Amino acid sequence: MMIEHLSSIDSAVLIGHVGAGSGIGREVCRILAREGATVVAADQNVKTAQETVATLEGAEHIALNIHVNDRNSVETGFKDVVKQFSKPPTIIVNSAGIVRDNFLVKLSDNDFDDVINVNLKGTFLLMQVAVKAMIEGNATKDSSIINMSSIVARGNIGQTSYSASKAGVIAMTKTASMEFGQLGIRVNAILPGFIDTPMTALIPDKVKEMFLKKIALQRLGKPQEVAEVIVFLASDKSSYINGASIEITGGLN
Ligand code: NAP
Repeated sequence: MMIEHLSSIDSAVLIGHVGAGSGIGREVCRILAREGATVVAADQNVKTAQETVATLEGAEHIALNIHVNDRNSVETGFKDVVKQFSKPPTIIVNSAGIVRDNFLVKLSDNDFDDVINVNLKGTFLLMQVAVKAMIEGNATKDSSIINMSSIVARGNIGQTSYSASKAGVIAMTKTASMEFGQLGIRVNAILPGFIDTPMTALIPDKVKEMFLKKIALQRLGKPQEVAEVIVFLASDKSSYINGASIEITGGLN
């Protein structure tokens, strides 16, 4: 998809992206920069975020260390960005996510909590801090938040905590879209299926083959195929899409 004009994405607009150091997040940064945006590439691993920034078109992009599950880290990160650019980011993409797969009866409290804290609470913290910064900066109009859910939100064997966290992201996105719509901020969720990234590289080949049989297009998705939809949701091309959950699965049954 070639986007000729993204009214809200130009060099004057700041993109806050957490989870930017890998997989889908890195690809989103690449495409947003290609479209002319200034990107704040944030990740818990600042080295990989810096590697992302080094590959981007344009000069003003920065890398930032943010732990999305830690309020202090998110608030400090946003303060630094507002200080540096004199305005808050108005497009927020949250690609930070983790898996700690295990059967329900074997799942530890720690693994359950880690996944909920990063995937669900992290999405909450990021939205809350970002929207407060937008309100303070008088920058809510035509803003867009894109949250990463998963098709696994409908349940998957061995993914109790992950599926619960991603189902929570869908509900929270819907609620946020209702609260923020009046401010001019759209909030949408993406539900990727099986995308070829470091996260899915850990899945055993046998399991992958089983899933391939269930995908109508008979292949894994590429990070770019998810990133293009995220960029569409960030742009004014999607100006009437709000509170939606969009599947990108190649037709997973
Ligand atoms: P990925 O390659 O593992 O990238 C996730 C990034 O998030 C990594 O750079 C990771 O850093 C970072 N991260 C993890 N915890 C963080 C935290 N607390 N604070 C800040 N950053 C953190 O994964 P991906 O496949 O691109 O997935 C991106 C998102 O899409 C995730 O939310 C995932 O659940 C979702 N998703 C992926 C698929 C898929 O098939 N790949 C399908 C559906 C949904 P480290 O490398 O240091 O851990």
